[in-house]
Amino acid sequence: MGFSKLLESWPVVRQLREGDALGLGRAVRSEKSRTLKPRIADADHVGHSICPFCAVGCAQLVYVKDGEVIQVEGDPASPISRGRLCPKGAATKNMHDGPLREYKVKYRRPYGTSWEELSLDDAMEMIVDRIVATRDETWEEETPDGNPAKRTMAIANLGGATLDNEENYLMKKLLTAIGVVQVENQARI
Ligand code: SF4
Repeated sequence: MGFSKLLESWPVVRQLREGDALGLGRAVRSEKSRTLKPRIADADHVGHSICPFCAVGCAQLVYVKDGEVIQVEGDPASPISRGRLCPKGAATKNMHDGPLREYKVKYRRPYGTSWEELSLDDAMEMIVDRIVATRDETWEEETPDGNPAKRTMAIANLGGATLDNEENYLMKKLLTAIGVVQVENQARI
C-alpha cells in the first residue's frame, strides 16, 4: 500500500479532508459499506400482502426472486402501519419457509404417546363427527327452570389472535347456528 493510500485509510485524515469533523458521514464509509446494497435490490417482483399474525393487519411487501420469497417488509403505503412491522411481522419470511414449519395436521389420539399425521380431509371429518355427537348428547331444549335454551354447554370456542373481523363474524354465525354459546376470542385489539 502506497503512502497516500495508507494516509487515506486513516479515518481522521478523511474526517479533516472531507469536512466531516464528527466522523458521522462519508469519512467513516469503507469500501465495503460503499458497495453494500439492500437484499431487495435483486428481487424480480414485489407482491402485496397482509401480515397473518394479528388483527392489526399491517401491510407487507413480499420480495420475490426466481419464484422464492427473499424478503418481507412493511408497506409504507399502508394507512394502518405506514411501513412498520412488529418483530413478529418482520419475521414473516421465517414462517413462510422456516424449517420448523408444519404442513400436515398433527393428531395425538387419547392415551397416545406420539403425534400422528392426518390429511386435512380426515381431520375435518373427525371434528365434524365429534361436534355432531357432542351436540346430540348434550343438547338442552330448555333451561332447568323451563325457559327456551336450544343450546349445548359441552362445546366452547376460543378464537386466535390472527382472526380478523370477517372470520370472527363467520365463526360466530356458525357457532350460534349450532347452539354453541360459549364463544371467546384472543383478540389483540
Ligand atoms: S403481528 Fe405485528 S406486524 Fe403483524 S399485523 Fe400484528 S402488529 Fe402488525
